[in-house]
Amino acid sequence: MSELAKSRDQIAFFAKSLFDRGLSHGSTGNISVRLSDGSLLVTPTGSSMGSLNPARISHLAEDGSLLSGDRPTKEIPLHSAFYDTRPGTGAVVHLHSSHSVALSLLPDLDPDNAVPPLTAYGVMLLGKVQLLPFFVPGDPAMGDAVRALAGKRSVVLLANHGPVVAGKDLETAVNAMEELEATARLALLLRGVPTSALSPDQVGRIVDKFDVDWT
Ligand code: ZN
Repeated sequence: MSELAKSRDQIAFFAKSLFDRGLSHGSTGNISVRLSDGSLLVTPTGSSMGSLNPARISHLAEDGSLLSGDRPTKEIPLHSAFYDTRPGTGAVVHLHSSHSVALSLLPDLDPDNAVPPLTAYGVMLLGKVQLLPFFVPGDPAMGDAVRALAGKRSVVLLANHGPVVAGKDLETAVNAMEELEATARLALLLRGVPTSALSPDQVGRIVDKFDVDWT
């Protein structure tokens, strides 16, 4: 099977898995995968992650022109910003998953480190998570805000909107997205409860050992 056909099937598989577990609802969220020739597969605008037809997933040339499939999501600038600033990025996943959105609404977050270091895997898979301000969906300024991070972060939270995660491949990005949602759920469960988060020393040891983005 060609890389193109395999990636189409893989996007539909992971999208349905996310949808079936309530991480995406209605027609929210989008996924992109970069192929070895630099072209991009992107979920179509208005499509439900629960019922993607692999053959209709948008295939875009490097210059953004549509090679096959339906019209792509309007959030292309958001996805491109990760591919352009983080070499080695093979996939980007954006969801409106409830716990991550809820976390982005809390008034006392540190925008530079929005998710508390509660567990080792949270630190390992997410690195520091950046909270970006609110943008109207489809506003290309979202992409500019990601570019301004200069590739330092693989995970961002769009305030009052949802998370965006970049990974070396789709499975890695989906795993990190699930880790983010689980960590956000823990943070909400523990809100107002005295909590022993990881100490700066413990975080430092994880960051060193697993080469985590923590600058
Ligand atoms: Zn969105």
